[in-house]
Amino acid sequence: MTLRVLAVASEMSPLVKTGGLADVVGALPGALANEGVETRTLVPGFPEVLHALGAGETVLSFDDLFGGPAWVHAGRLHEAIVYTLIAPHLYARTGGPYTDAQGIDYPDNAFRFAALAWVGAQIAQGALADFAPDVLHAHDWQAALAPAYSHYSGKPRPATVVTIHNIAFQGQFPKELLAPLRLPPASFRMEGVEYYGSIGFLKAGLQLCDRITTVSPSYAQEIETPEFGMGLDGLLRARAEIVNGILNGADENVWNPATDTRIVARYDASTLSVRTENRTALQKRMHLDADPDAFLLGVVSRMSWQKGHDMLLANLPSMMARHSQLALIGAGEKHLEESFLAAQEAYPGRVAVWIGYSENMAHLIQAGADAFLVPSRFEPCGLTQLYALRYGAVPIVSRVGGLKDTIIDANDMALQAGVATGFQFSPPTAETLAVALCKAQGVFKDKKTWRKMQSNGMGADVSWRHPARRYAALYREAIAARS
Ligand code: ADP
Repeated sequence: MTLRVLAVASEMSPLVKTGGLADVVGALPGALANEGVETRTLVPGFPEVLHALGAGETVLSFDDLFGGPAWVHAGRLHEAIVYTLIAPHLYARTGGPYTDAQGIDYPDNAFRFAALAWVGAQIAQGALADFAPDVLHAHDWQAALAPAYSHYSGKPRPATVVTIHNIAFQGQFPKELLAPLRLPPASFRMEGVEYYGSIGFLKAGLQLCDRITTVSPSYAQEIETPEFGMGLDGLLRARAEIVNGILNGADENVWNPATDTRIVARYDASTLSVRTENRTALQKRMHLDADPDAFLLGVVSRMSWQKGHDMLLANLPSMMARHSQLALIGAGEKHLEESFLAAQEAYPGRVAVWIGYSENMAHLIQAGADAFLVPSRFEPCGLTQLYALRYGAVPIVSRVGGLKDTIIDANDMALQAGVATGFQFSPPTAETLAVALCKAQGVFKDKKTWRKMQSNGMGADVSWRHPARRYAALYREAIAARS
């Protein structure tokens, strides 16, 4: 029997993306279809989403959704139906999905995402004649009130699942918003939406849903500790029985070096030498010296404390002394952007920094860099190291969360057994990163071993097949638990 799932999320690749959440939400409908699950996804009608989807059919409308009229359009992305919540007073803005052009959070984010969750709950509970979901799947804090709205509605509801893509973002708002957010007075308690005296969107979802997932087994364990749980570890320990870690996959339709039209030359594990053309193109496009022997490190990332770029900065002088190059694309915290731009000045032709966002450049870095660096302090899953595996850029990663679960460290045993796919360092500090960088560069000089590591990575199954099966099983379990 086909299972019907309503996914609710604030990002969906390629419609709107600021990070990994979008990639996952974009890939799941296709991956789940193979498991007998029909996934329809509700996303906010941000300008870029409306532009990409074009005119749709209105399937639902609301006279007043937190301060203005709103309606839901049904459209299609590939094979899957996407519902767009059109609410100009909430989403028709010139900045990003969450912040204005200056990077400041929109002051009404509580309403912007409560609206998404509220409409998600309506659809989950039968507002559409032709779609009665068996499961409501809310992604991250922006959607996490959906299970809470269904819970408090008092009406029959489907099974509910909340996925944590990053517990650092929780959506916490003043308690005075309780009634304006259409939450009943009785919901303001520890067993409900109350969170350290405020309203916690993610907390509410985690408290009131039937199943919790996060994006790797190691992160599932980590967030049950005070060090990584960011205030929610107690709740997660109390609900440990329903917490599941399901690794993300890489969307093979988007991240496949054999078919990728964003890169210069296509290749697979049997034609690895073709990769050099991408390497040369990357050096040229980023104004790096055309040096065939330098150890070329790639980085594609948001710039934030989480991602550990300060550790990379600390290592730049020694890296440069050792015949390395760096190609980095990213944007985020200003002080990090400025430090990398200063490094580019200091090491012309050796350090190339692109501040901004470019899907094309992200793909070319994966296809051209020798090694790919992810030095995160914490990492729920991490997608860029999966893409690096696919593209033969050997990952160098900190041993946390999903990085720990997806990379086989090149320790002596793994090297001897010929199974290593990358380099891990722990704990995440500039010093341990220095050791990993030295070690990686040493192996890089041993071309045979390096090539073996590249082809190991390219042969690893990082597809959505296995994760999709796990999600499908989890949905069925959540439904069974309710009946
Ligand atoms: P997070 O979601 O924490 O940002 P992930 O590794 O899970 O980290 O996902 C990041 C996604 O965003 C990847 O698809 C990566 O390629 C992409 N990305 C990050 N920064 C940029 C950028 N500056 N330009 C293009 N793509 C980027």
